[in-house]
Amino acid sequence: MNQHLNHFIQGAPREASDGGRIPLIDPVTEQIYGSCARGTVDDVARAVAAAHAQLEGGDWSRLDGAQRGRLLSKLADLVERDSEVLADMDASAIGRSPLEPRRMDLPNAIANLRAAAGWANQLEGRTIPTGGYFGSKTLSYTVREPVGVVGAIVPWNSPLMITVWKLAALLAAGCTVVVKPAEETPQSALHLAVLAQEAGFPDGVINVVTGYGAQVGRALCEHPHVAKISFTGSPEAGREIQRTAGVLFKHVALELGGKSPQIVFDDALFDDALFGCALGLFVNQGQICASGSRILVQRSLAERFAAALADAARAVKVGDPREPDVQMGPVAKKAQFDRVNRYIQLGIDQGATLLAGGVSTPGQGWFVRPTIFANARNDMAIAQDEIFGPVGTVITFDSEAEAVALANDCAYGLAATVWTTDLARAHRVAAQVKAGAIGINCWSPLDANLPWGGVKASGLGREGGFGGAQAYTEEKVITVLLPD
Ligand code: NAD
Repeated sequence: MNQHLNHFIQGAPREASDGGRIPLIDPVTEQIYGSCARGTVDDVARAVAAAHAQLEGGDWSRLDGAQRGRLLSKLADLVERDSEVLADMDASAIGRSPLEPRRMDLPNAIANLRAAAGWANQLEGRTIPTGGYFGSKTLSYTVREPVGVVGAIVPWNSPLMITVWKLAALLAAGCTVVVKPAEETPQSALHLAVLAQEAGFPDGVINVVTGYGAQVGRALCEHPHVAKISFTGSPEAGREIQRTAGVLFKHVALELGGKSPQIVFDDALFDDALFGCALGLFVNQGQICASGSRILVQRSLAERFAAALADAARAVKVGDPREPDVQMGPVAKKAQFDRVNRYIQLGIDQGATLLAGGVSTPGQGWFVRPTIFANARNDMAIAQDEIFGPVGTVITFDSEAEAVALANDCAYGLAATVWTTDLARAHRVAAQVKAGAIGINCWSPLDANLPWGGVKASGLGREGGFGGAQAYTEEKVITVLLPD
């Protein structure tokens, strides 16, 4: 099928203003299967104008929270209706098994839309006691207003789910949006925009401009009518976005990468910890921000655990993810293939023990072998850098204090997991590890009601939960002088 995808602006598909196109490449066959519009500064200006008009007296600006909530509920129903289509779009664009987005991303996205439908009518202000005004009494209250037009910049690894995290919350808050999907995965965001139109969202509330970060993403960051940038992606791009958008005093939320530790104590339930660590390493070919890629194991268990993890890695069936018994497809793009292999070679060169997998030779499709290193030191590149591929690094520790120190000795702080049957210890460790989300005996649970985001190089701000919707509002205070 030759896909010819365009922007979605003001409720209609549009070619790029200069006619530019970006090829879409199948990671399994490396064949071009279509193209999307290569967005320009003019395309962004047109989309932002449509979104801005809806806030400045457009139909959207006249809806109350309950009405926005009803539209979000309808959108949830339509996403549920098309969930297999949407899951398959995301899966085939990056070579992922379609079962993963069907079981994980889509249910999460639908739950987010349903939760946001409720939040839309709950964004309340406060009444605040004050000392009055020059001896007279006053009444001060606050209202929550939408921040304005949002630029939502999304990566390729879980395109629909991450787009919905942003959309559900910002629409509940009454904002409008220009979505910039990753250049590799524009399909599901475009389909979502069409579903939103079917649900009854006014044209211009949700716009999608496809293209490269350096053009479309940057133009959103620089546009004076974009009030907030909500970005999920790499720390490198996040830093540049913060610099560009920060200079213009825009709100910036950054969901960046991770190098999340899975801490396995010797009293852990072995099979549960093994399953959780394998899941955290290999789901979506390891291309997941919360990937539990630093496996910290207590010394008495380390050798046995690393060997079992290596067995699990060897047992993963790699191949065309459209085949029913295949568990792992290729990584999403050539740059990922090169990056993952470069890190595997670095692990070997720096002296870690390669237990399973290894450097993959180029063939047809960007397939990499699930790889496990043992006897690694925490200062090695494979222990510190986000690889974004199916590569696990086992590091040994002796004491609880050492486990915490190792977990925190990393630039990132997105997620962490503690595996132990000693619940007092689990809570002690959870309190000390610096991360946005900690799982105790479960790897990276995601839920529409839970906040998600990181500390340190993993980002700024939280998505998800009621706070995620509040983050798309400004709190305005109004003070009334009361007559004596
Ligand atoms: P990326 O930063 O290269 O691209 C992400 C998006 O930003 C794409 O749409 C891209 O076109 C755009 N972009 C790139 N440079 C830009 C710029 N200078 N200005 C504006 N936009 C720009 O990241 P990626 O390779 O697509 O995704 C992988 C990264 O995303 C990993 O680091 C991963 O951990 C992170 N991620 C984080 C989370 C989270 O919730 N914390 C979730 C998923 C992915």
